[in-house]
Amino acid sequence: MIAKGQKINDRYEIIKSIGEGGMANVYLGHDIILDRDVAIKVLRGDLAGDEKFVRRFQREALSASSLSHPNIVEMYDVGEDNGTYYIVMEYVPGQTLKQVIKKRGGLSLSEAIDVMLQITDGIKEAHDEYIIHRDLKPQNILIKDNGEIKITDFGIAMALNSTQLTQTNSVMGSVHYLPPEQASGKGATIKSDIYSMGILFYELLTGNLPFKGDNAVEIALKHMKSDIPSVREQNDSIPQSVENIILKATAKNPKNRYETVEEMHNDLLTCLNEDRKDESKIEFSYPEHENDDKKPVVLEEANNPENTVKELDDDLGDFKEEKKNTWIWVLSGIFICIMLVLVGIFVVYPLFTDVPDIIIPDVTGMSVSKAEETLRTAGFEVAMQVESVSDESIEKGLVVKTSPAIGLKRKKGSTITLYESLGTAEIELEDYTGKNYIEVKTTLEKQYGLENVIIEKLKLEEDDDKEYDKQEIIKQEPDAGTKVAKGDKVTLYIPDIVDEYPNFVEEAWSLEEIQNFCDEYGIVVTFTAKPTNEYQENTIISQSRSAGTTIVKGANLTVVYAVKYEESTNDKKEEKTTSDDKKEEKTKNED
Ligand code: ADP
Ligand code: MG
Repeated sequence: MIAKGQKINDRYEIIKSIGEGGMANVYLGHDIILDRDVAIKVLRGDLAGDEKFVRRFQREALSASSLSHPNIVEMYDVGEDNGTYYIVMEYVPGQTLKQVIKKRGGLSLSEAIDVMLQITDGIKEAHDEYIIHRDLKPQNILIKDNGEIKITDFGIAMALNSTQLTQTNSVMGSVHYLPPEQASGKGATIKSDIYSMGILFYELLTGNLPFKGDNAVEIALKHMKSDIPSVREQNDSIPQSVENIILKATAKNPKNRYETVEEMHNDLLTCLNEDRKDESKIEFSYPEHENDDKKPVVLEEANNPENTVKELDDDLGDFKEEKKNTWIWVLSGIFICIMLVLVGIFVVYPLFTDVPDIIIPDVTGMSVSKAEETLRTAGFEVAMQVESVSDESIEKGLVVKTSPAIGLKRKKGSTITLYESLGTAEIELEDYTGKNYIEVKTTLEKQYGLENVIIEKLKLEEDDDKEYDKQEIIKQEPDAGTKVAKGDKVTLYIPDIVDEYPNFVEEAWSLEEIQNFCDEYGIVVTFTAKPTNEYQENTIISQSRSAGTTIVKGANLTVVYAVKYEESTNDKKEEKTTSDDKKEEKTKNED
């Protein structure tokens, strides 16, 4: 827990706690530099010592920060302060969909469709960027009082490259929204998100979960084998065309589901059309019950070190697991029997092996050869890595830390990586251009202990028509090959691609430039003339949306500019160049 009033990195002041999830606490905070409210997600203290959670946490920021969409919570910053890992993001005032459902039960048909349209719109953007959310559930969807939806918690989201998009990945989200193919041990694809959205739609319409049970395996089995209950039987005012969307999204056989979220979105758009009111119940082209002889494997594959976390949360609590090795393949066949007995306790491993656990001894500060000897004597294998440290107390050549960390228990015979200190001496910079700045900044800070890595936006040349990513490093200072020490300044430049309101006032934009800018971004602008002699004619005096706030398409913006004040004419003469007549507005934040 972090106390109210506490400051993180001298920049973010904690105002109050606003939410809790499986791995983090979320606070309302205030960004002192940009003077705006933000949400700060802080990795739980008990997980901050565990590298895999830290990695997963940082990956969350990475996955989501490449996304820019009105229905996805915007990421602002990620960092660490004295062992506290945090992500700073857009603050969404409102509730989670779970809270709404708890309070109200099901939503009305049109509300539910409206919510689903926004969710599918956001997830379409994520899929277009090759990111699968994998944990879509009402707890992770925020709704503002005006009905606007923001998807959050890309904690186990997976960034894929295009060839991997339909391949699988095995970290799982909540069992209540778990697609059958994942329950039977296959990994997530974009169709897994589609399935979870189908379950979500069901829950929004009925206020209930379709598959319930006393334990994770029972629920997973229902996802695999039981037909989803009919929403029309519970509420006969729901048209068949709407039920068909749920049926299609939650088909057991992924081949029967929508191919893309866009397809689902379009179906949602037209489901209430007059010409669809006599639609018949959907029939599937492929067999639905291919999986009926399969058993739920509620364990992850262990071949990817990143994917070491599996959650079966909600009412079931969290079950977090250490990485398993290859023997898992042998055991997975008989795993169902064990699971049925041991769900919730995960003591499977010790039962099936005689290999004892040993505590990783403290070898920090030892010479590498001494540490190696100590670990081998204790019964471990040893691997080596070198690392530059920020802690002067650990001299070059001595052991900085181990992975897994000192004090943890591991099986006899498992491999422990030793990190040898490079001292605080210099590191040689690589060529970072083309890489993601968050990733590079994190590596330079965490791995090499650099303390002065600065990110700056660089205006692109007019004739530069390359398509840069928002987070791509386009230039660095000093150049690759330069040696730097921990306090030296390293500047990473990213393209100054605007998706925030510029400072029209300070940057002295012309009315025409503003109009063009607004046209390009779909902003509805109103120009208000203020008669004054304080400013030169046509000077921009104020803007209703502050510089730095995110642009949302369709937003209204008022820009006040100066016109000549003539005593002879009307004292309060006002002109306008577009739409409605708005008085000068005070500058206010969008949130
Ligand atoms: P976890 O990964 O631990 O599940 P989440 O990202 O889901 O964490 O956040 C936990 C809770 O915090 C959410 O269910 C929600 O209530 C609240 N929350 C998360 N992000 C925001 C935000 N940007 N604005 C407001 N509340 C948020
Ligand atoms: Mg969550």
